[in-house]
Order: sequence, then C-alpha cells, then structure tokens
Amino acid sequence: MRRQGLLSLLPLASLVAALLAAAAQAPAPAPRDLKFDGKRAFRDLEALVAAFGPRPAGTARSREVAKWICDRFEADGIDARVSTGFVRGEPAANAIAMFPGKTGRFLVVIGHHDSVHRAPGAEDNASSVAALLELARALKGVPLRHSVILCSTDAEETGGMGAELLIADLGKERIAATDACVGLEMLAWPGGAPVMHAIPRNYTAVAPRYVPGDMPAVIAAASPEPLALGDPRLPLFAQGFTRACSAKTGSDDVFFAKEGVPALFLSRSSLSSFYPHYHQASDTPEQLSAEALQSSGRILESAIRALDDAPPSRDGVRDYLIWRTLLLPQRLLALAALGPLAACAGLALWKRRSDRALSVGAALAALPCLSTALRFEPLVLLACWLPAALIPVTSVLPRRPLRLALAGFGAFPGCLLAILYLAGALMFGVEMGAGTAVPLLVFGAMSLAGLVLAVRGAAPAAPAPAP
Ligand SMILES: [Zn+2]
Repeated sequence: MRRQGLLSLLPLASLVAALLAAAAQAPAPAPRDLKFDGKRAFRDLEALVAAFGPRPAGTARSREVAKWICDRFEADGIDARVSTGFVRGEPAANAIAMFPGKTGRFLVVIGHHDSVHRAPGAEDNASSVAALLELARALKGVPLRHSVILCSTDAEETGGMGAELLIADLGKERIAATDACVGLEMLAWPGGAPVMHAIPRNYTAVAPRYVPGDMPAVIAAASPEPLALGDPRLPLFAQGFTRACSAKTGSDDVFFAKEGVPALFLSRSSLSSFYPHYHQASDTPEQLSAEALQSSGRILESAIRALDDAPPSRDGVRDYLIWRTLLLPQRLLALAALGPLAACAGLALWKRRSDRALSVGAALAALPCLSTALRFEPLVLLACWLPAALIPVTSVLPRRPLRLALAGFGAFPGCLLAILYLAGALMFGVEMGAGTAVPLLVFGAMSLAGLVLAVRGAAPAAPAPAP
C-alpha cells in the first residue's frame, strides 16, 4: 500500500485502538441476586392507569393517587405517608416510603405520578410509580447502610413542585447527608433501551456547581445489562451534544442536583429512540411490556444496592466521557485527538495532486473540531471530530459508493450537532452564548464543506481529451 494510503488510515486506527483499550479495561459487572419482579410491577402500572387515567398536578385526583400509592406501600408492610403542601403557590401531594439504614446517610429514588391533562400517562410516568412500589418489595429485608427514601412526586410536568416539596420535607441536614438521587422516567417501553441521563456539567442555569462525580460509572458497572449514558446507540455523541449545547435532560432529579447532590435519571427514552406516545392520549399500557419494566427495574435495584455499597465520589473526574463503565478524563481525550489531527495534516501535505479536493475537505472538516475543542468541550471533539477524521480514509477505498458512505458518516455528527443546536435553541430554549454557538455553527458548516469536497474528490475522473 502507498504511503498516503497508510497515512489516511491512521485516524481510523487510532479510534479503534482507543475503543479497544477502553474495552480491555472495563470491569465486569458484579452479579447480584435481584428480586425485582416485572410482571408484578406491571400489574401495579395497569391498576394505576385503570383507576385514575390522566392525573394533572395539583388536582383532587393527584392527591387521591398519592394516597393510593401510599396504601400500596403499606399493604406490602412498608412505612409510608402522604405529604402535601404548597410550592410557589401551587399545591402538590407526594407519597413517601422510607427504609431506615445504619449510617445516617441517605439515598433518594424519585419518580412522578402526575401526568399532562390529555394523557393517561402509562409510560410517563405510571411505569416509574410501579417501579418504586416493586423496588420497595425487593428491598424488604435487605440490610442497608443508607436510609433509602422512595418518593412518588406530584407536579413534575408543571415545574417540579413535588420534588421541591420533598426537599423541603427532608430539610437541610438530610439533604446534606444525601449521597445520590436516582430519578425515574418512562421505564416500560419495549421499543426503547435502558439509558442514564445526567444533566450537563455546564448547565449553569440549573446547577452552577453540579458534578455527578462517578455516579454514572458506579451504576453502569453494577448493571445486569449494558447501560449507556445519554443514548444507547450514540452515547459519545449524545454526551458531547448534551454538554456542549446544555440540552435539558433532567427530571425531578435536577432539583437534587441544584442542592449539590449527585443525580441522574434512568429511562428507556433518549435522542435516538424517543417514546412516540409521549404526552399523548395514546400513552396507554398497550404500548408497554412487563419484560421492559423488568429490565429497567433490575437495573434500578442493582443501582441502589451498588450506590448503597459505594456512594459516588463527588470530587472525582470533573469532565468526563463515559464509555461502557469507564470515565475517560478530559486530558486523555485531548491527547487522543492529536494523533488523528496530525494524520489529517500529513495527508493534506502528501496527497497526490489529483486528490487535492479531498485533502482540502479533510483539513476543513478537522480544523473546526480543533477550535471547538480548544474553546470548550473535548467531548464534542471525540463525538464529532473523530468521525470527521474518517473523511480522509475515503481516499483509499476502491469503490465510489463506499467512499461516499464513509464521507457522509464522517460529516454527519458535525452537521447534526449544528442542526440540533439550532433546533434546540428555537424549540427547547437551550441556553448558550454566542461564544459557544458561533464555533458550533462554523463547525457544522465546515463539516458540510468537508463532505462536499470529499464527494467531489470521489467523483470519477473526466476522460482524457483525445489527442
Ligand atoms: Zn415524565
């Protein structure tokens, strides 16, 4: 193979090497004897939806639901109570169960029972209430170090008043002694895959000093099945996007994050597989399955047992990307990016004249990534820049369709990031200053330019003019 060919394979080789190294280091999950019964939990889900249907926050019906949940806890011999109050002038009614521990430290598990007006809210979020009830049964008789608080909240859909009421209920001392908060959202949809969502580190509008510590890694390591952070299919990209764009991914857990408690939420919905009946009248038990709830519930149970054994360290790696069960620190990522960058620069110098357009395209795709990384987030660099570094690899592929497919894949994350940012800014009120937005948009445009030039470079050569 020619020297240029070898050089252009370097970006791909370094990506593969990084992933292999990470895979080799990933610890095996600790097996546990888990008791969560998905079928029993699913019966609670069906019973709740059949008894109440839509459960808008602050109504008489949402108070009745809190009482119903409390009665179910008590029927299983678990101490529980209804807590009602006003937060920001709005009424809220929570159901709270507590398992006392030995150490004076606390873990909180939280999922909301209210729904939007038109939706029966089977997945969002009767599924989580059912998981709380079954988790309580599974924890009965288990010796716990932490006191575990299970709370079904009101008014998540209207602004998180139930979560704030719980925080007021617990009081400053117990909040300061809380090691982690696990939120629950949409746990029984078989079309999704289990995933953790942590609010972004730089989401300053919500939690100025929020650091989830190594909580995602602790939960992923204990999980009985693969559990990604951010997205099951695009975990690296989802983390880069969430943090760079401060996309809002929190639920009731955000209010604990605000108090400085490591927090995230478990779900089966994410960017690449979002529950299609979300907030619709069609959000009924027929869309859901006991098997999916069983899978989520076992992850939840193993998470609580793991957090009870080894609570997350708050001052661990501050800026990280989680892949499998590994926390990859920021500096390592920046270093990992230097290889492909050097390869791209070398390629641009060494390429044959006839492929100049392709080399320029590769350089164009790579440079904005570097500026992106220098400016804010190495996560964006890994999620977007490494795929972009695949564009030069197209020059060694023999067939045009293959070259186009790989160039398209390489340019896709950068373009998508820019589009998502625009959509997020318009639709979800993503908060990001011009200092972040401008490099992102430039990055998207440059990735697109890299793609166009790679496509032009891959075009068949024009026939030589007849002599
Ligand atoms: Zn919800």
